[in-house]
Amino acid sequence: MKAFGIDEALKTLGILSVNEGTSTGINNFSSGDVIDSFSPVDGKLIASVKTTTESDYQKVMESATKAFKSWRVMPAPQRGEIVRQFGEKLRAKKEALGKLVSYEMGKSYQEGLGEVQEMIDICDFAVGLSRQLHGLTMHSERPGHRMYEQYHPLGIVGIISAFNFPVAVWSWNTALAWVCGDVCVWKPSEKTPLCGVACQNIIAEVLKENDLPEGISCLINGDYKVGEFMSKDSRIPLVSATGSTRMGKIVAKEVAGRLGKTLLELGGNNAIIVTPDADIKMTVIGAVFGAVGTAGQRCTSTRRLIIHDSIYDKVKQAVVDAYKQLRIGNPLDENNHVGPLIDKDAVAMYQGALKKVVAEGGTVLVEGEVLSGEGYESGCYVKPAIAEASNDFEIVQHETFAPILYVLKYSGDVENAIALQNGVAQGLSSAIMTNNLREAERFLSHAGSDCGIANVNIGTSGAEIGGAFGGEKETGGGRESGSDAWKVYMRRQTNTINYTTELPLAQGIKFDL
Ligand code: NAD
Repeated sequence: MKAFGIDEALKTLGILSVNEGTSTGINNFSSGDVIDSFSPVDGKLIASVKTTTESDYQKVMESATKAFKSWRVMPAPQRGEIVRQFGEKLRAKKEALGKLVSYEMGKSYQEGLGEVQEMIDICDFAVGLSRQLHGLTMHSERPGHRMYEQYHPLGIVGIISAFNFPVAVWSWNTALAWVCGDVCVWKPSEKTPLCGVACQNIIAEVLKENDLPEGISCLINGDYKVGEFMSKDSRIPLVSATGSTRMGKIVAKEVAGRLGKTLLELGGNNAIIVTPDADIKMTVIGAVFGAVGTAGQRCTSTRRLIIHDSIYDKVKQAVVDAYKQLRIGNPLDENNHVGPLIDKDAVAMYQGALKKVVAEGGTVLVEGEVLSGEGYESGCYVKPAIAEASNDFEIVQHETFAPILYVLKYSGDVENAIALQNGVAQGLSSAIMTNNLREAERFLSHAGSDCGIANVNIGTSGAEIGGAFGGEKETGGGRESGSDAWKVYMRRQTNTINYTTELPLAQGIKFDL
């Protein structure tokens, strides 16, 4: 019996016990080597999945190609109805899926539930969207002509996702892509393969109940080599890839080489600016949650705190004091604030970064440590650390996916803080804590934050599904989720219709025969 009712959750999600393979077998062509999924919570084997070989992949693509032919002609509101049913199933399985997310990835149970709630919310959003895939009409320069634009389904959308949001990122893509008339092939992270199987089982049930082709939602398993099947495949017009900047650069080059489209959601290096007019209590909560929540493994985690010199010592001390209250341990126990890192490689990266910041001249304010002993058997639990640093340190310029917060000082005007905030290669999330309207507006202005997300008086981490999500520069430029992010999943067509008996040419050109 595993911790906190996880066996019950696995059963509810159709995942069989250890080594019995992946799932219900629905649309499951995988026949390759086995990936064992170990929990970072307690180091135990949860279950295993088979990887997708190249010939399995061809079968998946045949299934997706066939499904697209019928799915694309189903009216969008009817596709919305399928997404609505999917959202209902998620509601029914929220606790089980939230628990699996927490146990396989290591985030708190509350965050696991929150991730499933995001899936439900994006389904609701997509249902409404299914009646609002609007194009524009325009006035033609030619008499008796009508012009408009419309959006058509794109085809097969390839989704590559990261371990840290093992279910929500998929749904951000699929819920929109499905109402847009696309079918999806998903390669989840090889570090969280069971979350992928669980989601596939849930949508497969909905498709079966509606007598729809399985190929509308396909799952492939494995590491980067399986991801490469998709980036190289010209049958996939759009590859949506979430993960490290390193991965994004490789995928972008590959897909661009065949003139396909990419939607890239890559690494962040997010900062909170704390001005002399900041509310210190709110700042401390925002900064600490942003830096240690999900053990610093959110793309929007707070990595840098940029504090004005007039309040520097006070804010620094308040944050250091707050760290003393942090409880580190099993994320399924809601008394704990900080769970484990995903695996021992991540622990090694954390240790390496701490060494590096000291070597570059940084001062450690809260010591890091790898925890051992009872409750920490997985070897993945670490103490959140804080170091005083300079923005130009190489390690500060780099995204370390762990709970390490760099504290930086600025002097003078808020422009100096904005320059530090923008002075990194990544451009995902940013925040300013201030009650000064002028500072807030300068931060949000054309000359302000260069990130895809810019917040005032809330931290960098956590976003709602209603807005478009994504970032600039090395974060990749993609936008997912709300607003008009749906447009990337469709192809745009401009139509001109002549309802006269004449054939006037555009720009007044004469061509008489
Ligand atoms: P990762 O880059 O190691 O892996 C992400 C996915 O890409 C995995 O499924 C992996 O198998 C696949 N992959 C890796 N190399 C590939 C290649 N050459 N071709 C095709 N696929 C390949 O990232 P990770 O460690 O799983 O996740 C952490 C990273 O993800 C962080 O940098 C984080 O900031 C980023 N992230 C970004 C967002 C966002 O929305 N911007 C969201 C979540 C995570």
